[in-house]
Amino acid sequence: MTDNAANGYDVIIVGAGPAGLCAAMYAGRGMLKSLTIERGAPGGELLNTDLIEDYIGFESIRGWELAQKMADHAKKFGAVIVTDTVLKVRKADDAWFDVVTAHGRTHRAPAVILTAGGTPVKLGVPGELEHAGKGVSYCAVCDGAFFKGEVLAVVGGGDAAVEEADYLTRYASKVFVVHRRDRFRASKILQERVFANPKIEVIWNKRVLEIKGTERGTDHLVLEDAVTGGRSSLKVGGVFVFIGFKPNTGLIDGHAEHDAAGYLITDDRMMTSIPGLFAAGDVRSQLTRQITTAVGDATTAAIAVEKYLAVLRAGLTVGA
Ligand code: NAP
Repeated sequence: MTDNAANGYDVIIVGAGPAGLCAAMYAGRGMLKSLTIERGAPGGELLNTDLIEDYIGFESIRGWELAQKMADHAKKFGAVIVTDTVLKVRKADDAWFDVVTAHGRTHRAPAVILTAGGTPVKLGVPGELEHAGKGVSYCAVCDGAFFKGEVLAVVGGGDAAVEEADYLTRYASKVFVVHRRDRFRASKILQERVFANPKIEVIWNKRVLEIKGTERGTDHLVLEDAVTGGRSSLKVGGVFVFIGFKPNTGLIDGHAEHDAAGYLITDDRMMTSIPGLFAAGDVRSQLTRQITTAVGDATTAAIAVEKYLAVLRAGLTVGA
């Protein structure tokens, strides 16, 4: 079923994390008619984060609460958020975008803001997929409470790994952070919190070779020393993997310029190499990925869409 110009969307926003919700809010304030498509509940990664302490103006707020506030704010300015999964974003011959969804709909608009975030990178070792959801997790807030009193391993050395290791100590008796190098790439303030936490022990220079367990859960990790190559085992009741995110850019039909890691390259208006396709938040190539940077990107993108549409319409090239 095609949902097109008859409904008069100016812009379709893919994803309703902080970037998508902020874009929808600004689109509404700019009197643009927008449709926001989100496969889960509005909030994106906020819903996988317990406490947020780095969103300016909110010294400390629960992830779900900030998500709710952002969604309410966007809706106040006219955001329409539908639950569906976007399968494809394709620029058609008339220069409008077809946004094809899993519910069999094709929504159309002259501009799209992609704020689809990313999915967790997997270790790719034996035992990982077999134990996913049964001892292997990618979300501490979702699954931490299942591991009360257990010894856990967190794999990774970035912001997510150290932040979530600290979070998991509220349930676990002990948390090992297993990192493949001899230093973290996480921000200093998060590192200090981990070093000061008596329930956390960092295991440097170790790669996970295998996750062993039974159908009831994990039992131990097989580790390899990155320097000596020696093997060891680490007994754990659960494993949380935080080794980065892969940007959800696969839904773009056609080539949009990206960096070596697959993140979309945009200009200073947040426009990708496909005219009319904008990107904001975790899908975009940039130095860091924070809530503040996501909403900053989204603000620029929504305002840039307004200007982009004004130019297109002045040239009578769109939707005629
Ligand atoms: P990240 O910063 O890319 O860190 C990934 C970590 O995983 C690195 O330490 C990396 O090791 C390790 N790693 C990658 N592949 C691995 C593999 N195959 N086996 C073992 N280890 C592997 O990812 P992230 O922590 O998910 O963060 C993503 C973005 O979100 C970052 O920009 C981050 O700043 C942001 N973020 C911010 C916050 C916050 O500020 N509160 C919280 C979460 C995330 P190497 O260091 O050796 O490469």
